[in-house]
Amino acid sequence: METARCIFCEIAQGSLPAAIVYRDSDAVAFLDTNPLFPGHVLLCPRQHHATLPDLPVQLAGPLFTTTQLLAKAVESAMQAEGTFIAINNRVSQTVPHLHIHIVPRKRRDGLKGFFWPRQLYADDAAREAARKAIESEIQKLQANTEP
Ligand code: AMP
Ligand code: ZN
Repeated sequence: METARCIFCEIAQGSLPAAIVYRDSDAVAFLDTNPLFPGHVLLCPRQHHATLPDLPVQLAGPLFTTTQLLAKAVESAMQAEGTFIAINNRVSQTVPHLHIHIVPRKRRDGLKGFFWPRQLYADDAAREAARKAIESEIQKLQANTEP
């Protein structure tokens, strides 16, 4: 059976060119070809996992540590005032190999209103229903992972 091509696996393996900024045994990071701003980096685990929830838990800590390193480096290198760190999971995800966007930010750079159309809860009951539903899912997930 033919497996689907994954461009980020190919970049991690070196068979597809990319502007690599960082590599280690677990992850690779490279410039996004269509950046929100110059210096926009994508960090990928070398292993193919589609979304953050799919990532084995032992890889999550090291990947987040590398995210910290890249956030500092991108901010300094691009003379930015901060960074935006984001992961699309399925919705709006155009490459189904987990990747963390590390985007340099400056105040009044124009990204804010574009990204965050906010909503209000209809009322206190709606907010409490959402809070309870998430809390209950967390408890179920924790019960399933406990030995
Ligand atoms: P997302 O929409 O969150 O899945 O992000 C995918 C990102 O990958 C987009 O920002 C694209 O611009 C970027 N991208 C797609 N192909 C490549 C590539 N070959 N090298 C670097 N970045 C890429
Ligand atoms: Zn892949």
